[in-house]
Amino acid sequence: MIIFFALKNLLHNVQAVISTRIFVVAIYNPKITCLLLYAVETRSLSKVYRNGLKAVDEISIKIEEGEIFGFLGPNGAGKSTTIMILTTLLKPTSGRAFVAGFDVVTQAKKVRQNIGYVQQDSTVDEYLTGRENLELQARLNHIPKNSIKERIDDIIDLVELSDRQHDAVVTYSGGMRKRLDIAGGLLHRPKVLFLDEPTLGLDIQTRYKIWDYIRNIHKEFGMSIFLTTHYMEEADKLCDNISIIDHGKIKVTGSPKLLKNALGNEVVVFEVDSDLKLGNLLSEIKEMPLVKDVTTDGYEITIFSPSGNQVTPKIFELAGKLGVKIESITLTRPTLDDVFLSYTGRELREENDGFNRKKEREKMRRLRA
Ligand code: ADP
Repeated sequence: MIIFFALKNLLHNVQAVISTRIFVVAIYNPKITCLLLYAVETRSLSKVYRNGLKAVDEISIKIEEGEIFGFLGPNGAGKSTTIMILTTLLKPTSGRAFVAGFDVVTQAKKVRQNIGYVQQDSTVDEYLTGRENLELQARLNHIPKNSIKERIDDIIDLVELSDRQHDAVVTYSGGMRKRLDIAGGLLHRPKVLFLDEPTLGLDIQTRYKIWDYIRNIHKEFGMSIFLTTHYMEEADKLCDNISIIDHGKIKVTGSPKLLKNALGNEVVVFEVDSDLKLGNLLSEIKEMPLVKDVTTDGYEITIFSPSGNQVTPKIFELAGKLGVKIESITLTRPTLDDVFLSYTGRELREENDGFNRKKEREKMRRLRA
């Protein structure tokens, strides 16, 4: 019995020493301080190009495991430079970045094993079939031979390309190619999937379909997704959190809902048919709890409120009681476009009008090469 207690005590002490050492080592060894707490973490990450341009300026972001994160910014903001650093294609000048818990500089190989990267321009071979492309991708990713068939069957099914898998990619539509690209990025079951402008140049229906596929693969595999986009609706619909980057600096980070709410009031505008009893209506509206401000312009009344949804039925009720007829009513909520505008001073759509992104990207690629 004494020996048993002595042994138990000894084991307990050894365990305590081990866990204390892991804790201490974790604090002092920069290689493991990240310990998979975040899918992606950057600490004051910067990149200065040879011409002296600071494309990424001390950015610090944290992306939780399983999160869909949107990285938004106008052209030249530093999105591609950041994504290239995170996917180990480019070295940072200073600061640190961890992906799937690994340092992108000192553990680049580990990072590459744990990520999928779906680039903006398709990387598939047009003269191979969809399936042959995936087989090639599987071999490049060292997927064990005996599981290649099953993985391809699963993924090709998920992106709904089973019936066209034996056709040459040259016969595929833009949306089908993108689905094949996404399937290729998923074959080795990455912990973090990078999607660079996944729906750029696709028509609106195909874009909506791609959003469904992204949601489905996220549900199926639960990986973290780092997505760049210049479609505000895409970020709003898909992302748990977004960061807006401009001139290499992070302007703001948060959930789309939080960022929109932070902009302030919703606006209810309605028109009445006459000014009879309008004075009474206005004074009662001003007393309503959720009404912050009211302005009038002829028969048109504008109400600012943190919750237009709650105010609108009350306006109808009040107007009915006073016998005032409402001709029309609209409710406007702040959008992610408004958020973008307020942080960058520009609209993202304007930014991209008349800009040949593909050509610009090719130019950059040549420059980097
Ligand atoms: P985004 O992807 O947001 O459009 P980029 O990361 O491609 O932005 O570019 C950020 C800035 O860095 C831009 O001003 C761009 O012109 C510049 N840049 C990108 N690549 C290079 C390079 N290889 N050499 C010099 N400047 C570059």
